[in-house]
Amino acid sequence: MSRKVTVLGAGLVGSLLSIFLAKRGYKVEAFEGRPDLRKSDISAGRSINLALSHRGIKALNALGLNEEVKERCIPMPGRMIHDLEGSLDFHPYGKEGQFINSVSRGGLNELLLDEAEKAGVTIHFNHKCNDVNYRTTEAHFHSPEGEKAVSSDFIFGADGAFSALRNSFMRGERFNYEQHYITAGYKELHIPPTENGEFAIDPNALHIWPRGKFMLIALPNLDKSFTVTLFLPFEGETSFESLPNDEAVLAFFNKEFADAVPLMPELLHDFNNNPTSGLVTVRCYPWTRGNCTLIGDAAHAIVPFYGQGMNAGFEDCHVLDQLLGEHGELSTELLKKYQELRKPDAEAIADLALYNFIEMRDKVADPKFILQKKIEKRLNELFPEQWLPLYPMVTFSDLRYSEALEIGRKQQQIMNKVMEYPGIEVAWENLDFESIVNQL
Ligand code: FAD
Repeated sequence: MSRKVTVLGAGLVGSLLSIFLAKRGYKVEAFEGRPDLRKSDISAGRSINLALSHRGIKALNALGLNEEVKERCIPMPGRMIHDLEGSLDFHPYGKEGQFINSVSRGGLNELLLDEAEKAGVTIHFNHKCNDVNYRTTEAHFHSPEGEKAVSSDFIFGADGAFSALRNSFMRGERFNYEQHYITAGYKELHIPPTENGEFAIDPNALHIWPRGKFMLIALPNLDKSFTVTLFLPFEGETSFESLPNDEAVLAFFNKEFADAVPLMPELLHDFNNNPTSGLVTVRCYPWTRGNCTLIGDAAHAIVPFYGQGMNAGFEDCHVLDQLLGEHGELSTELLKKYQELRKPDAEAIADLALYNFIEMRDKVADPKFILQKKIEKRLNELFPEQWLPLYPMVTFSDLRYSEALEIGRKQQQIMNKVMEYPGIEVAWENLDFESIVNQL
């Protein structure tokens, strides 16, 4: 067979997809706009670490990469909530033994690049795609050797939220496209290891300082530091705009995140030097034109609050590979099947991620919300087959995102009624749990 496939972008999704396709016998060439991150001193781009969970792990497992990836992971079995006084409260994400993983974006990308090359993929770095003719399956690149045109049988756009392939679709007919920025942006900060070389706070948790309209989070790194991210509106009363100088930044942090300030000796340096970036949701359709297809963020960039963007992109690759297993080889029809299967799930996770911002920055500190989670946990313990709460359904199962969203909505309607029972705060243990489950 050996048909030629071009993959645009050798980020997380592009490199994983390249491995899947090479293992199916395709001659894969990946073109990455940046230099080789294994040889150059660049970070892999935005966000230094990420939460890897079941769907992403399942795709990696399908390629036998579980052990190598596991070595790069720090398990986070729950959220550690920091209140204004610095008191801590740990909320498990799921059952005993369930956890999400903090993994370095650069480290994971390096591993996938190595594995892609081992599988026979040729990766061209410093090749930025500037145009694609999707009718003739020809991609055009700026490269150190000048302008290049590359023809192939199939092209995959794994070139992220600002995809060149998607831009070419947009110039064609009947392509739907919507991009939406939320009002908040983010800035990365840093908690270094302590003087003794230890983690400054518990490494086995995703730390959250929820403060209503904004929040701070921290995820552990293998070098015993934490990557900290401040999510804050760009404009308004408490916003990036309202912090114009060091004095204002320090006053804000001392008021809102007092327990974190002593852990961040480089706070002002990081705040002043690290970029403030926007958070976008991209929805578009169709993903496939002829033999060209969008995948990962290029097809469905989402806000990061469910920790699912990469996981969803990895699941795209796995679903495509399963379709190849069922139908034999790449074709326009198979690519259409892939988009029809994945689009409802991409829509669902985009909505869930937007909703989870409210949950993380606001609700996790609300006693009523905490009680609801407690009741749902009990329902799950008593009726594990019938009641799986939404977060574990999204994070620890591979139920389709669209089904998880639908079940989650039904559960929420039921829980809205349960939470209105008079005296629920004390009476919840005596609820008729079976009749609650039977409402599903
Ligand atoms: P990208 O990672 O954007 O990779 C695209 C690649 O294509 C890059 O290497 C880029 O250089 C290259 N490229 C771009 N344009 C061109 C071009 N024209 N020509 C050639 N190459 C090109 N997801 C999770 O699952 N868990 C998390 O915890 C999580 N946290 C996040 C936190 C933040 C702050 C953000 C912003 C995102 C987070 N995500 C998370 C989402 C995750 O980062 C993305 O979903 C994931 O990176 C998508 O991978 P991708 O390969 O599709 O796109």
